[in-house]
Amino acid sequence: MAARRPLIVGNWKMNGLTASLAEASALAGKVKAQAPAAELGLCPPATLVAAMAAALKGTGIGVGGQDCHAKASGAHTGDISAEALKDAGAIYVLAGHSERRTDHAETDATVRAKAQAAHRAGLIAIVCLGETLAQRDANETLKVVSAQLRGSLPDDATAANTVVAYEPVWAIGTGRTPTEAQVAEVHAAMRQELKARFDDGEGFRLLYGGSVKPDNAKALMAVADVDGALVGGASLKANDFWPIIEAKG
Ligand code: PGA
Repeated sequence: MAARRPLIVGNWKMNGLTASLAEASALAGKVKAQAPAAELGLCPPATLVAAMAAALKGTGIGVGGQDCHAKASGAHTGDISAEALKDAGAIYVLAGHSERRTDHAETDATVRAKAQAAHRAGLIAIVCLGETLAQRDANETLKVVSAQLRGSLPDDATAANTVVAYEPVWAIGTGRTPTEAQVAEVHAAMRQELKARFDDGEGFRLLYGGSVKPDNAKALMAVADVDGALVGGASLKANDFWPIIEAKG
């Protein structure tokens, strides 16, 4: 099995206007000056996907959507298909981010259908999951994460078309992070699940996300079975994002 290439993905969430493309270009400038070991992705708001993909063409930084509809087209006002994201130049799409699961009541079944849509369109699905604070306090973390992983990954998932991001809900945007031992425990459990279900389970990349910052990235990225990061707030500025990218060298 070939070594897993690290992957660092920025999730801009509902932040970023046309002027913010300057940050993507600044990041591209840093990549050009010093090629990082990790594969890089940026997921801007949908309105910027096409422009960002055009601006980053040939830089090695891939663009992703933050969500997609399960269907390829049709009467779904306000939704975006995986095919449309692909057409706009995306290569990734997030599926089941906790903010989608909460704000839009997405279930594991919804997320699984979206991941399948991503595969149908030729996108890499970055499937997100993680426990709430109440679930962690109740010692249910491994049970919850395993169930989400089983329920959110379609049978057609492979190491090439699917990435899993472990994002404890209580760590997202809070400045709090799990200990390295807690991250290691969850990632080891996810790896076990993947190996049991998929022939190439060893090859899936497992990202950690939730308050990854320049000052904690090195320690988090060094944890066993952490193949990269999904970064929110600290991905908005190239100068904050770059040390995180370098941390997975
Ligand atoms: P954060 O967000 O880095 O701002 O905590 C991570 C995410 O939600 O993907």
